[in-house]
Amino acid sequence: MPDLLIRNAVLEGSRTDALIADGVFTDIRPGIDAPAGVETLDADGFILAPAFYNAHTHSAMSIMRGLADDLRLETWLNEHIWPFEAKLTEEDVRRGVLLAAEEMIRSGTVLFNDMYWMPDVALRVADEIGMRAVIGPCLISNPLAKFTRAEELEEAYREAAHPELLALSYAPHAVYSTDERLLRDTAEKARDNGRFIHIHASETRAEVEGCVHEHGMTPVAWIDKCGLLTDRTILAHGVHLADDDIRLIRDKGAVVVHNPCSNYKLCSGQFDFRRVFEEGGCRVALGTDGCASNNSLSLFDEMKFAALNAKIQSGDPECGKAEDVWRIATRGGAQAFGLDAGEIAVGRLGDAILLDPSVPALNPSRNLASALVYAADTSCVDTVVCAGRVLMRGRTMCAL
Ligand SMILES: [Zn+2]
Repeated sequence: MPDLLIRNAVLEGSRTDALIADGVFTDIRPGIDAPAGVETLDADGFILAPAFYNAHTHSAMSIMRGLADDLRLETWLNEHIWPFEAKLTEEDVRRGVLLAAEEMIRSGTVLFNDMYWMPDVALRVADEIGMRAVIGPCLISNPLAKFTRAEELEEAYREAAHPELLALSYAPHAVYSTDERLLRDTAEKARDNGRFIHIHASETRAEVEGCVHEHGMTPVAWIDKCGLLTDRTILAHGVHLADDDIRLIRDKGAVVVHNPCSNYKLCSGQFDFRRVFEEGGCRVALGTDGCASNNSLSLFDEMKFAALNAKIQSGDPECGKAEDVWRIATRGGAQAFGLDAGEIAVGRLGDAILLDPSVPALNPSRNLASALVYAADTSCVDTVVCAGRVLMRGRTMCAL
């Protein structure tokens, strides 16, 4: 991993330098002498802040942006997305992941947790760029399973140049698209090799009703009964959670990924930030979902929607504080994947962004969390650093 000295940045209102060595912040103070051979980046008074972690997406779906808007989830999936995907080529997936990676980096994101077909392609793209990714084979009981390519993913991981930036998961699609055998087999494999589990859970009311009808319990309870609910389980959406679900998720240490824009666009419902996070004590991260249901991969949008959604849902403007929302998009997202990152501090992984202080949305510079959640957009992000590697500098992509 390259070492990097960031000079003349502004951290919490004060000028500082920050040294990243072997992918970790090892020194943060003014006047650090550059060790021999270390790349130096002059931040020129730009604001040093934690990078973002996109905890649920389907990166290659960026090629489907605008393909089928303004539809119900079942119609969107069954009549548009799955028929389109039946004809996917490897080149389509590669172009989609590249497009997504650029969009994510431009918006300050250094990690994406991906669930999609031909996952080996996404892993190879992330590895070429030097971006963090958690990638699993999308497991499903339908004809698209031909694109699962679990063995090819293992091979891509073995051949990766930057394995320290990558992690593997298993990604059973959802309770309505998998059977019990598949879920139990997946749980056993994940127990054996310690990989993450990534599954859509309680996204719509119809999903919950269908699961209760078929299995006599909620999707979260069913996922747990099949052995899949652990502290390495990432539950995407969690919009319709019963009190027992929330207790179960908290007790097992699983992570719920809030995807507010997708939930709004598909009318899936309103995530209960207060009941799940503020009072429920669950681990929560933020995700964009795929581009076909969002249609953006910027966590800036998600942060603003998450804060506003929390207020409307609870009827209380004190719910969904900017600090909390910024925290789940940064530290919460990193910790979901076992990474000690998402903060600018000695000992944390060397991921960071530099924000342009001249952008109007960041002025006056009163409260950075407030500015980032309520006012900022991707145009504020000037530079992106992942494990000491510069992925974007002066809004020019270095990695693509
Ligand atoms: Zn999704």
